[in-house]
Amino acid sequence: MAGAPLLEVRDLQVVFHTYAGLVQAVRGVSFAIAPGEMLAVVGESGCGKSVTAQTILRLLPTPPAEVTGGQILFEGRDLLKLSEREMQQVRGEQITVVFQDPISALNPTATVGSQIAEVVTLHESVTRKQAWQRAVEMLQLVGIPDAVQRAHQYPHQFSGGMRQRAMIALALACRPKLLIADEPTTALDVTVQAQILALLKRLQKETGAAVLLITHDLGVVAEVADRVVVMYAGEVIEQAPLEPLFYAPRHPYTWGLLRSVPRLDRMRQGALEPIEGTPPDLLDPPSGCAFAPRCRYALRICRQMPPIEQQVETEGHSVRCWLNDPAAPAGLRRPWAEGEAAVSQEDLSLQPRSAPPQ
Ligand code: SF4
Repeated sequence: MAGAPLLEVRDLQVVFHTYAGLVQAVRGVSFAIAPGEMLAVVGESGCGKSVTAQTILRLLPTPPAEVTGGQILFEGRDLLKLSEREMQQVRGEQITVVFQDPISALNPTATVGSQIAEVVTLHESVTRKQAWQRAVEMLQLVGIPDAVQRAHQYPHQFSGGMRQRAMIALALACRPKLLIADEPTTALDVTVQAQILALLKRLQKETGAAVLLITHDLGVVAEVADRVVVMYAGEVIEQAPLEPLFYAPRHPYTWGLLRSVPRLDRMRQGALEPIEGTPPDLLDPPSGCAFAPRCRYALRICRQMPPIEQQVETEGHSVRCWLNDPAAPAGLRRPWAEGEAAVSQEDLSLQPRSAPPQ
């Protein structure tokens, strides 16, 4: 990443105290977002992506949640060390959020225009008239037709797609540096989803805001993201710029995710390939690779030691998987895995059940 990152999450660890024990929801997550970049964080439900986003915003109730380690540096300041009052300023002015369900995020008893205007007056010294004018401009910016009239309407008078647009207008009203969009299109039908994604991409370019897009949908990622972080069982298992992630993925879980996306060119090859099995219990995560019980390429070491993060040849592409280690068996060693071995050949001696895809 060229230049200083806008946001840098370093070795973040979050647990939940429950009656059953300690759930290790986020286990050493690290990634960074550059100014103006769109970074997608992708993974199955429960992988820790939304917990990570809510920890950035400090929205998790504590208890039961507890941040047990790491840093969240926003323009060099650790958000975890700010007072609640300082954090309130960061939320809304510098970092804003769009949730999956705008109906629960918008106030049903206030007009959409007044809600946007209120946010503007809270964070900027403007008159009520100027704030209202900004609200109308924001509604126009996100493509709401007849914005002058629509600003006087209540959320229930908007369709689902329009409510999500209004939510985005609300989030961008104070010109934040970072917009967190947590599954922003999941509740929408496919055509509206495409419109909202195109809108996010356009606004990212026009406003210069960085976007952290949380999603379980790789199709969404392919449409808009600049870079992708893949999470599994509370960990980042692969991260890369968009094209290497789609055309040269290095992790069996990413392979699985890609094979489970419907593709027109594969329609005649039969059913989609699901990833067999279920994610591990984060009350008691495995000591080795968390994906090992579901991985058809698992080696002996996979169940013994967590994989070390390795850089691959494309800048910004890293992966946690023993298959990428130079000491992996010859049949498995990928052409990109050259350099120092992190483990001995003996550790990697168990042959997998089948060869990885070429
Ligand atoms: Fe599979 Fe081993 Fe790689 Fe984990 S480290 S994804 S178990 S090959």
